[in-house]
Amino acid sequence: EVLANQIAAGEVIERPASVVKELVENALDAGSTQVDVLVTGAGLTSIQVIDNGGGIAPEDVEIAFRRHATSKISSRQDLFKVHSLGFRGEALPSIASVADVVLETATDSAAGVRVHYRGGKLLEHATTALRPGTTVTVTDLFYNTPARLKYVKSPHTELGQIGDIINRLALSHPDVAFSLASEGNILVRTTGNGGLQQTIAGIYGVKLARKMLAIQAEDLDFKLQGFVSLPELTRSARRYLTVLINGRYIKNFQLNKAIIAGYGSKLMVGRYPIAVIAIEMDPILVDVNVHPTKQEVRLSKEEELGKLLETTIFKRIAQENL
Ligand code: ADP
Ligand code: MG
Repeated sequence: EVLANQIAAGEVIERPASVVKELVENALDAGSTQVDVLVTGAGLTSIQVIDNGGGIAPEDVEIAFRRHATSKISSRQDLFKVHSLGFRGEALPSIASVADVVLETATDSAAGVRVHYRGGKLLEHATTALRPGTTVTVTDLFYNTPARLKYVKSPHTELGQIGDIINRLALSHPDVAFSLASEGNILVRTTGNGGLQQTIAGIYGVKLARKMLAIQAEDLDFKLQGFVSLPELTRSARRYLTVLINGRYIKNFQLNKAIIAGYGSKLMVGRYPIAVIAIEMDPILVDVNVHPTKQEVRLSKEEELGKLLETTIFKRIAQENL
């Protein structure tokens, strides 16, 4: 069982950012309106995720650390119809098999529970007084899987990956207040009550958010809205392109290309715009790739959507130059 969990961890938990992603997605699935993430040592020393969601009932806490113990609807066929982010019931057992994990949780109707796992073994199960919600503290990640540790990159890179994850989850949940702190310094703080532009401000800064151009378009198949930067306000990395489909962050090469194409010849070589685009479409047109991280998606009518995106951005920027 511990070995099976370690193998599963190999697929799901590649690096500190994967732990952050799984824990924050669980917090969101639990209906949290506030999610605070604290890391030290770029997540290798410690990762703590604090939420104010529904918590786990005492009798379900140990079950949550067993494989495939998902309490959520399980439909691999069309995740875009399913609201919850988790679906495999693998994250908690995987993380607990390759790290030290303390989970403290309480519902609003029962006493709190604290469990402590290390290397997949339960070391402690205690009842404590807690406020409703869940706090998960992960330390010593990959202490027992040295091969994994070898693939972990520099603290700078790993912290950047954690930041990317939080940014994407915050942008796809403007109604949730997020914070990310590293070594006690706040890197991201969103308010959870101001819509997309406010969330952009919490992530990229108020000044930048104010300079972004709002875009909006609609045709028979797609409805899109979002914010794009002026051509002079660019970055040297693609990671500032965020595409959400039906409220979920996705990766799609063609759509990124379409956003860039919308700038025509106005972008300097090697520069990328900052953009956050939210697209609504019939889930039937979305094909979730089998990859466990569920981020790469294929779309039917991808070309049409790309064209709509490109022309919308192109026109908006042209308008600005009048
Ligand atoms: P999955 O998210 O795929 O269901 P996980 O291993 O991530 O599987 O979590 C197992 C179960 O533990 C979840 O289905 C949920 O019931 C419970 N759980 C985990 N984290 C939280 C949380 N922060 N708040 C409430 N319940 C949680
Ligand atoms: Mg999960």
